[in-house]
Amino acid sequence: MLSSVFGPYAQDDEFGSRSINPMELYHNQVTRAQGSFSLRMFHRSWGIMLIQANISAPCTVLDFPTRDDFARELKANQYDVVGISSIIVNVAKVREMCRIIRRVSPHSVIVVGGHVAAIPGIETMIDADHIVRGEGVSWMRRYLGEDENAPIRHPAIVSGMRTRIMGIRLPERKGATAATIIPSVGCPMGCNFCTTSAFFGGKGKFVNFFETGDELFDVMNCMERELKVHSFFVMDENFLLHRERALRLLERMKEAGKSWTMSVFASANAIRKYTMQELVELGVSWLWMGLESPRASYSKLGGADTRQLTRELREHGIRVQGSTIIGLEHHTPDNIVAEIEHAVSHDTDFHQFMLYTPVPGTPLYQQMAEQGRLLRDVDYADVHGQFKFNFEHAAISRDDSKRFLDWAFWRDFEANGPSLYRISRTLLTGWKRYKDWPDARVRERFAREMARLSGIYGSALWAMERRFRKVNLNVSQQIRALRQEFKRESGVVSRMMPAVLGPVLLWTTRREEKRLARGKTYEPPTILERTNWVEA
Ligand code: SF4
Repeated sequence: MLSSVFGPYAQDDEFGSRSINPMELYHNQVTRAQGSFSLRMFHRSWGIMLIQANISAPCTVLDFPTRDDFARELKANQYDVVGISSIIVNVAKVREMCRIIRRVSPHSVIVVGGHVAAIPGIETMIDADHIVRGEGVSWMRRYLGEDENAPIRHPAIVSGMRTRIMGIRLPERKGATAATIIPSVGCPMGCNFCTTSAFFGGKGKFVNFFETGDELFDVMNCMERELKVHSFFVMDENFLLHRERALRLLERMKEAGKSWTMSVFASANAIRKYTMQELVELGVSWLWMGLESPRASYSKLGGADTRQLTRELREHGIRVQGSTIIGLEHHTPDNIVAEIEHAVSHDTDFHQFMLYTPVPGTPLYQQMAEQGRLLRDVDYADVHGQFKFNFEHAAISRDDSKRFLDWAFWRDFEANGPSLYRISRTLLTGWKRYKDWPDARVRERFAREMARLSGIYGSALWAMERRFRKVNLNVSQQIRALRQEFKRESGVVSRMMPAVLGPVLLWTTRREEKRLARGKTYEPPTILERTNWVEA
């Protein structure tokens, strides 16, 4: 059995769950200040899904169990091996799960992997038989006596589930949500704070599951058929850095007439190796880029003017998610506000703010440990970059780190409005630019998104405009201008929709605000999937 750690997650408890750190990536570190406009969704535990798809032993994946679910499954079946995948904040849950396994299924071998394995002295903190650092598919294949070099089989992964915004849960039709593709893990840029880079080897290292554009094309083709999707969430820390692979993929897409959409992560230096046309033809429609700080010297920024780059990407219909670090070494109470204003002035579609955080396994952690600057009494459950510093900063106190972080989220929302408005704006800009483009694949992609979304976005904009009228007139007016533009560019049906759907969305938005004020939280469903299974 392969399991993620147990829930519930969005609460404060002795196992390290934290209400400010729910199992909702966007809500906990990107849109958390946006209230009922926050994008809320859950993502599966892709690592254990990938391992399951690549072993021939009978295997159960148990995702988001409760403690009772976990114990029940252990009692119901005889598991030779129980694997637990976890990040660092959940180390107390791993400890508890090991304890449950020893009690309920004493013959099972316990394997623990994921970022939690990077904690110094983890062997003495949990009762596991094996701690796996780095990539887990080859480890598990080796352990089971299977061929660790066999080609990777990619599981069919729907990228998000139970998506919720403005108080509405979006329908989960087949094909409506992107498929997740995992071409590589790790990133060779090796930024000092980066956990994923460090975990898979650090500077200069990464692991390719799919080496070539041809291999990647075949996998995407398969997923397109199986999940009925045109869009892909590419889970690769720095997808565009592998230029040869990306351009070969583009060639194959052109040959086959594929009008695919891709959401990717990439560093500024990698993005600048492509023309805007190449990115658009490749189907890049959403891009997560580290902005960090105007004074940061990370080589991935390569001296790029990130504001100019962001503007250009958005002008080509590419939604940008920026990421900024709060609490870098040069930050002081005197300059941090200007740095946050600089970040906000990028006017990205989404903006993640994260505290500078020495996380076990990273070069930054090593450096802080050597300098004796790690704070000893910080619980690992609070080392996630969304609460307070876990190290001694030269100029900013621990409490102030939280204040500046919270202010950054608030300021971005106040200045730029809800991300839903911003992505509508970028989509419309892209559609206007490319609706008559010579490449039919590109035209089709923008037309598809526009047709699917214009009525919905128009209605959401109607509701947003009214919602912000009294609290933020500037944002409300910007939303109004965009709504008028949508109206002009939309078909008749889409033009009519806001009058009907808009008031409904305004009502659901207000209802959601009341629910959130009462402390409403959301949890992912428990999922159990078996492969190579023979019923007794
Ligand atoms: S470029 Fe991004 S993914 Fe790569 S090491 Fe730096 S922070 Fe990590």
